[in-house]
Amino acid sequence: MTRVAVVGGGWAGMAAAVELAERGVPVTVFEAARQLGGRARGVAVNGLVLDNGPHLLLGAYRETLRLLEKVRPGPLPLLRLPLHLEIPGAFRLHLPSLPAPLHLAVGLLTARGVNWKERLAAARFMESLKRLRFRLEQDTTVDALLRLHGQHGAPSRHLWEPLCLAALNTPPAKASAQVFLNVLRDSLAGSRDACDMLLPETDFTALFPAPAADYVRRRGGEVRLSCPVRAISKEGSGYALTTDGGSEIFSHVVCAVPPQRLPALLAGLPELAGTAKTAAGFRHQPIYNVYLQYPPGTRLSQPLLGMAGGLGQWVFDRGWTHGQDGLMAVTLSGEGAHEKLGQDELAATVARELAPLIGSATPLWHRVVADKRATFACTPAISRPKGETALPGLVLAGDYVEGDYPATLEGAVRSGVAAARRL
Ligand SMILES: Cc1cc2nc3c(=O)[nH]c(=O)nc-3n(C[C@H](O)[C@H](O)[C@H](O)COP(=O)(O)OP(=O)(O)OC[C@H]3O[C@@H](n4cnc5c(N)ncnc54)[C@H](O)[C@@H]3O)c2cc1C
Repeated sequence: MTRVAVVGGGWAGMAAAVELAERGVPVTVFEAARQLGGRARGVAVNGLVLDNGPHLLLGAYRETLRLLEKVRPGPLPLLRLPLHLEIPGAFRLHLPSLPAPLHLAVGLLTARGVNWKERLAAARFMESLKRLRFRLEQDTTVDALLRLHGQHGAPSRHLWEPLCLAALNTPPAKASAQVFLNVLRDSLAGSRDACDMLLPETDFTALFPAPAADYVRRRGGEVRLSCPVRAISKEGSGYALTTDGGSEIFSHVVCAVPPQRLPALLAGLPELAGTAKTAAGFRHQPIYNVYLQYPPGTRLSQPLLGMAGGLGQWVFDRGWTHGQDGLMAVTLSGEGAHEKLGQDELAATVARELAPLIGSATPLWHRVVADKRATFACTPAISRPKGETALPGLVLAGDYVEGDYPATLEGAVRSGVAAARRL
């Protein structure tokens, strides 16, 4: 009898569960934490619902949008804006509402903070990538790719390098050029709305995992919180899952835990020793988020602005999106000097950097949310395990599973959908 277990209630696991439930497959989700969402979840702070880190979705997140529409009837709580990258006083790229590829050409040629030579070089760079069909014969670093294509100065500093860090969460000197090209292909070089920025207007658990759980339950499935799976073993033609409450048999399993949790889970399955070894070999990169609450009425000129020359990289104004007046969220992606600072020192530094943008120096309170293993380090030619494993009926899902994308919501969702379809 078919009975599928999904281990892990992050975006990958919930995507798999929704796809299975839609097809009438009996599914049980096991989530170790008290809430769903994993690395994209709501977090309660000072009586407010924040996120473990503000996330940006793109128009190119086609599978994520498809599943959001499936589980959430009515308009999606996403603020959709044309791509607008602005570092006040230093750089501005705005893509106008023109058909592709005109929108990109006009955007690059009218970018501010770059001279004519640099604008043309940036446009030529995108043209060369298109001629290469965004494929490299041999993967290299993003730094090396930018140097090879003459991308120096402002375009590199204010556009390509921040995009690389934001998308791959890996510094350009270490990041995979091929994965970066995959992202550029589907966003900047995609259709006009593919590079639209989608800013959630609700927290990340409420955006997808919670309505996905309702969807699964309505179709007869089960979602168990605070229920870590301790071990998986073979049992006849299926699998036994051990939790603190005992052991249960399933015909199929989707393992949707982060890579660092996989080896322990697979320890009782010698056939998957190679998969466990690959997962254990991943290096990780951190993401820090500094929430700063300013007096009500404090507002940025845009919901999202770039920052340059200091530690902060992007600042999200949650007053624009979440009705959280005066609350700023500054993100710091990838490794760096900030990891050595204490939380108060980091918040004070970021507040100083933010002061010119908001005209206010001292926040009322701050909170640092640091995730040391936010994503896998997306380095050149990295080996990622396939979704299909050596064991029939046991598949992997997660942002680290083999695919075109770096560790992103879309990568996680696509892997979950693929896992369900495989089963
Ligand atoms: C701060 C931050 C900012 C980010 N910003 C962006 C962004 O702007 N845009 C973007 O697209 N992506 C962003 N990402 C990446 C994105 O959040 C992740 O790629 C995605 O959430 C990964 O989802 P997942 O389901 O693969 O893994 P996870 O979210 O890690 O989910 C795995 C789940 O498995 C559970 N689990 C683990 N072990 C067990 C067990 N033994 N039994 C049961 N359950 C278990 C965990 O509790 C977790 O809920 C960001 C990530 C972070 C951390």
